[in-house]
Amino acid sequence: MRLDGRRSSDNVDDRRGSSAGKVSLGIGGTIIVGLIIWLMGGNPMNFVTQQAVENMSEGQNYTPTAEEEEAAAFAKTILAGTEDVWRELFNQNGMRYTPPRMVLFSKVTQSGCGNASASTGPFYCPEDQTLYIDLSFFNQMKSQLNAGGDFAYAYVIAHEVGHHVQYLLGTLDKVHQQQQRVSQAESNQLSVRLELQADFYAGVWAYHDNKDFNSLEDGDIEEGLNAATQIGDDRLQMEAQGYTVPDSFNHGTSAQRTRWLKKGLQTGDMTDGDTFSVSYSQL
Ligand SMILES: [Zn+2]
Repeated sequence: MRLDGRRSSDNVDDRRGSSAGKVSLGIGGTIIVGLIIWLMGGNPMNFVTQQAVENMSEGQNYTPTAEEEEAAAFAKTILAGTEDVWRELFNQNGMRYTPPRMVLFSKVTQSGCGNASASTGPFYCPEDQTLYIDLSFFNQMKSQLNAGGDFAYAYVIAHEVGHHVQYLLGTLDKVHQQQQRVSQAESNQLSVRLELQADFYAGVWAYHDNKDFNSLEDGDIEEGLNAATQIGDDRLQMEAQGYTVPDSFNHGTSAQRTRWLKKGLQTGDMTDGDTFSVSYSQL
């Protein structure tokens, strides 16, 4: 991506290396409902244990590497891009965009949705309208998921911002209420629809970011589509356990994630991402 001279977002709370003493376990578990997580490998609600918090005393001596500083600056620039694009798109549709906050943390932190650890992966918490990102996730994408590349990382941030857009539009709340009333399998399908729409919104953002700032370089779109492929539920389950359980999918298959991200990238039209009226088999 070409990001030279772009502004950084001010809506960032950099908690990397902050004292673990600030992490309280009191509210963990009570506010799990609102938590939307990026990856669901293993235990989905991988909240920190007392042990993990005790181990965090090392965080007080945290000194970011040059690579981490670069990743932080990148995340702030991408977030600023989402603010500019979504403000404009909301304006065009007669609405007002309130940007989310972004917390950068290392290993563990407290969120409005409970305590979060790095192993949770990036997520959006609607309770405090904040994105939580441990930047080491970008390294994991590269080394463990074969999903590296700057645009792949931007897609992750833009996907979480996509959940914030869903929050502002009331979609998130509506779907969470529906999920209370249906079976687990149906609830998972609703989750897939939410996630695919967040992928679509990430594509919409990229379309406009490129139009406004000429940010995409050759290979960027391929990086994003590759990431969407690598983090499909079917791909992750196949790699983790050698078979897939479609009823348990909650983010969408590689093909679905790629399709909706691509659709956003191609149309740039935020009203074109209705993943809820399409029949499930056609997603
Ligand atoms: Zn998501």
